[in-house]
Amino acid sequence: MSARVIDGKAVAAAVRECVAAEVKAYEAEQGRAPLLVTVIVGDDPASEVYVAGKHRACKEVGMRSLHHGLGAETSEEQLLGLVDELNRDPDVDGILVQLPLPEHIDPDRIVAAIDPAKDVDGLTPVNAGLLAHGMPGLVSCTPAGVMELLRHEGVELEGAEAVVVGRSKLVGVPVSRLLLAANATVTVCHSRTRDLAATCRRADVLVAAVGVPRLLGGDAVKPGAVVIDVGVNRTDDGLVGDVDFEAAAEVAAAITPVPGGVGPMTVAMLLVNTLAAARARV
Ligand code: NAP
Repeated sequence: MSARVIDGKAVAAAVRECVAAEVKAYEAEQGRAPLLVTVIVGDDPASEVYVAGKHRACKEVGMRSLHHGLGAETSEEQLLGLVDELNRDPDVDGILVQLPLPEHIDPDRIVAAIDPAKDVDGLTPVNAGLLAHGMPGLVSCTPAGVMELLRHEGVELEGAEAVVVGRSKLVGVPVSRLLLAANATVTVCHSRTRDLAATCRRADVLVAAVGVPRLLGGDAVKPGAVVIDVGVNRTDDGLVGDVDFEAAAEVAAAITPVPGGVGPMTVAMLLVNTLAAARARV
């Protein structure tokens, strides 16, 4: 293996340390710590694990957090009612409705109902639109985490060829907008892309956000590229990314591992967003 392994845990710890110091200052000024409220509907085990991690992280940096665990039978109207209550509660700084939601609830309708000023997941149409227009807003946590990793690694983005595999609202599209805003030349690939490996091989910066275990092999990586693997796939071999780590690490200059790469950054950026949301509401 020749690639440097990008330590997402260490970068995330540095971000959390910064947030902890700023939370202290915020609390001293405002007499209250920022408050994040999470909502889960149903009993998806992965959601429970993710949300528990978010509460632990809040506690660690001195933020307050509350959780609403709603039964799987909760109606869309009931959930909209809770979102409305949280929107109007002046003590609440950040609202996170964990996805996926049960089939009978339209996630787009729920996300759109969240007050954009409290949308710490950065997923409301307002925040997505602000990002598309290059205007300040709350940026979705995983894409923001990808950018923070690239910044921390000192990756030169101006004029670089960046290829993003995946065009979801959650990751692919926002990360491509952020790369474009950083003056990279951005190509977005998806399930209909012809010759995916050849397109990826153009990339100085390759971001994989697909959800297919080890989809991208060594032949998809340009020698010397920086590879950011957002994918989290549960397989019989444990958690793996969308990139074949061993094969890609032979070719790349730097690569994120799974786990321990982008994942910890997502939680760290949620803390950054919650603090920013609290500050903006003062
Ligand atoms: P998603 O909504 O399912 O989107 C997947 C994207 O990949 C789609 O745009 C799809 O194309 C594309 N795609 C699927 N198969 C492909 C193929 N064979 N070749 C090229 N493109 C293909 O997934 P997501 O929410 O963006 O998540 C992507 C991955 O990131 C998942 O593994 C997820 O678990 C992980 N994730 C990790 C974190 C973290 O914190 N580490 C956070 C969020 C997500 P079409 O649009 O054409 O269908």
